[in-house]
Amino acid sequence: MERERRRLIVTGVVQGVGFRPFVYRIAHAHGLAGSVCNRGDAGVEIEIEGDPQEIEGFLTDLREKHPPLARIGAISVEEIPPTGEAGFRIVPSKDGAGSAGAIPPDIAICDECIADIFGDTRYRGYWATSCTNCGPRFTVIESLPYDRPRTSMRDFPMCADCRAEYTDPLDRRYHAQTIACPRCGPRLTFDGTDDDPIARAAAALKSGEIVAIKGIGGTHIACDATNVDAVTELRARLGRPGQPFALMATEEILPRIAEVTEEEWALLRSPRRPIVVLRQRPGALPEQVAPGLHTVGVMLPYSGLHHLLFAQLETPLVMTSANRPGSPMLIENTRIEHELSGIVDHFLLHDRRIVARCDDSVVRISGGNAKLLRRSRGYVPEGFRIDLGNAPILALGPESDLAFALYFGGRVTMSQHIGTVDDLDTFAFLQEAIGHLRRITGAPPPRIVAHDLHPGFITTRYAAELAALHRARAVPVQHHVAHLASVLGEHGLPEAVGVVLDGYGYGTDGTAWGGEIFMVQDGKIVRAGTLSPVRLPGGDLAARKPARMAAAYLHAAGVKQEEIAEFLRAREMEEVEVEVVLHQL
Ligand SMILES: [Zn+2]
Ligand SMILES: [Zn+2]
Repeated sequence: MERERRRLIVTGVVQGVGFRPFVYRIAHAHGLAGSVCNRGDAGVEIEIEGDPQEIEGFLTDLREKHPPLARIGAISVEEIPPTGEAGFRIVPSKDGAGSAGAIPPDIAICDECIADIFGDTRYRGYWATSCTNCGPRFTVIESLPYDRPRTSMRDFPMCADCRAEYTDPLDRRYHAQTIACPRCGPRLTFDGTDDDPIARAAAALKSGEIVAIKGIGGTHIACDATNVDAVTELRARLGRPGQPFALMATEEILPRIAEVTEEEWALLRSPRRPIVVLRQRPGALPEQVAPGLHTVGVMLPYSGLHHLLFAQLETPLVMTSANRPGSPMLIENTRIEHELSGIVDHFLLHDRRIVARCDDSVVRISGGNAKLLRRSRGYVPEGFRIDLGNAPILALGPESDLAFALYFGGRVTMSQHIGTVDDLDTFAFLQEAIGHLRRITGAPPPRIVAHDLHPGFITTRYAAELAALHRARAVPVQHHVAHLASVLGEHGLPEAVGVVLDGYGYGTDGTAWGGEIFMVQDGKIVRAGTLSPVRLPGGDLAARKPARMAAAYLHAAGVKQEEIAEFLRAREMEEVEVEVVLHQL
């Protein structure tokens, strides 16, 4: 029989998704010899040898039958001389870096794993059950290529049973890097004891207590969302009077508290499992869950831990991100226990490290389309292709609600939600997250560091430091121009008139810009118009206290000082502040 041999390079999301076991199985099915291995750049290299017709069949299966989480970007095929090799092998990963692909996001537990934890299996009741089709990726991977020794699972050597499944090419957990079981895997504790921690947590929640729950890529503060006293107490302890709380509810509970359209169900049930902003059912929830709003953000359970917990609960839970005001979400056990003492009554924790924190994503269906309000868990680190030239770029973003982006090799990868970078903790998180995203994408050092034009932002000073470190060019970008450019990029528009209404942004003339109108033509963005300037009483403070802005507009409209003072007093502004504002006008 005539034999042929091919070398394939497959790029896309092909690591950490059961791709190599899949290749192994289809190679066996077609009686082909050869090998498959992960390359350091997240691509996969395959060599196959055998009957040419079987090779064709293999290529068809590769394209059409790949695992659910895999996304094939490109397959390059090269004919090489046959070697007479027998058998097909999965060879150890090659270290290195490049630009071919991406690590997948964290994905909600799959139906088969849910069946395992509620069925008569060795995973019964195990909170961290996962397989090649589900579970954490982005938040446990330290660097490429994706293999257990480069994840936080390296702290948990596999037991004999797990190893047997891990090495069985026909098993769903073949080469599942996050495989773990009650014998060898990460352990849950409730207030330090591992005696039925989930039942204890459920009992505490039912009795109206507040519990910190460390999950897959982050930590939540939870309480019974239908218990007015518990929700009110949580608000008081957190010092967050008005910010809406996100909820978690099962598919059975959810219709009792919110109206859910078909599109919203699809989004809620997708493996990304974002928080979806839904219409509240009137009277179903205490006002304190989302004060003054008729909407509520809800997500479905997305880990084994959540499913096991809700098996013992009949009400939705408040599941708000566990952080001190203005600080990033807490992920280390010692800090969770220290900084949340006085806020929570109990701690449901585990001993697996979270390598990269990743907040829940928030999505709202608007005009039939899913609009991302916060793009984080379930989406990051997915990127998109765009040609911005050869120079690798690090785009830092401004100050509040920051996410950054990396560009290299014709691909942009956006970071998880970082937060408002105006304190040391969040700045440290930004630095960690840049290092992590560069390691797991294999991004080279930046040649360009883009930053906001505002000279006072921490990110502006950091951009100058990074530029000096990497001998890169720091490129300031005006705030509203950056917003416009991102929309142009998203929709591939070469020409446009852009109206950017985003409040305060530092302008190219050194003044504060507000609503801006731009012309986009011939690769240039020109400011064509603007809202009439008014004073900003108190500078940045005016952006956070709208009454100050209203006073400025009243003043500009010729309203008398005494009337403006009355207006401010009626909005519960203290007399001292009223005096200051009048003076600033
Ligand atoms: Zn699974
Ligand atoms: Zn095990």
